[in-house]
Amino acid sequence: MSAAEAFVTLATTESYCMGATVVARSLRRHGTTRRIVVMVTPNISQSSRLGLKSVFDEVIEVDVMDSGDRLHLALLGRPELGVTFTKIHCWTLTQYSKCVFLDADTLALCNVDELFERDELSAAPDPGWPDCFNSGVFVFRPSLRTHTRLLDHALQHGSFDGGDQGLLNSFFSSWPVEDISKHLPFVYNLSASSIYSYLPAFQQFGHEAKIVHFLGAVKPWNSSSQRDDSSSHTMEQFMTLWWREYLNPATSSAPGKQPTEGQD
Ligand code: UDP
Ligand code: MN
Repeated sequence: MSAAEAFVTLATTESYCMGATVVARSLRRHGTTRRIVVMVTPNISQSSRLGLKSVFDEVIEVDVMDSGDRLHLALLGRPELGVTFTKIHCWTLTQYSKCVFLDADTLALCNVDELFERDELSAAPDPGWPDCFNSGVFVFRPSLRTHTRLLDHALQHGSFDGGDQGLLNSFFSSWPVEDISKHLPFVYNLSASSIYSYLPAFQQFGHEAKIVHFLGAVKPWNSSSQRDDSSSHTMEQFMTLWWREYLNPATSSAPGKQPTEGQD
């Protein structure tokens, strides 16, 4: 049943914890029936973990350096793959039969539980190269075998973009041609940049947006859009929405959990 399915996100820094918090709150606000899980690295502080525990069902510590000597050595030589390998860790969450991974820089605008009807590996096209999927939102099946194969693939072939998206696209290489049901509609991973690159399409279809992805260098937590202005600029509006979710947790804490108090 639904208890065996989960939304999963990842935070390896304190700022990405802010993003993860908004991911969880936005999913809850829209009444998900699935578990909501965050993977964190050992460097994340106790106070941040406490904050995350108030909105997530599970806070799972992952440490890729524990995954074995061979991996450890490989990572020492290729530190840039560190965060990528941490994200790949989501395949080890075998207590769940199916998961939806969401980058910590995403924001759900409505209930998206129907994503669990899709199979591995379902994702939306990347706006920069639509024959690649964007790895900010994807449906997967946890499996230790797949996890090992992904690590092997990474160690053998690296990642053509240095990140998880290059690795996942070369591993799930049939995605562009094989099965259209694994192509999520773009509205499940609407990247901010698309608003500028194809404005008429955004004006036509943007109101159907389900998940916004603040892909790229400018993240909401680094920007100053918390003012609630009546800007006509849509990106600003999504940023404002993000800040509203971050600053106003009232209706969106985990069932049976209290929102964290301001001081601790
Ligand atoms: N991430 C993280 N710490 C980092 C970089 C990335 O925890 O220092 C995680 C986080 O979940 C983030 C995801 O990896 O959303 C992918 O990175 P990002 O969203 O920054 O990449 P983009 O979507 O902009 O390409
Ligand atoms: Mn992202």
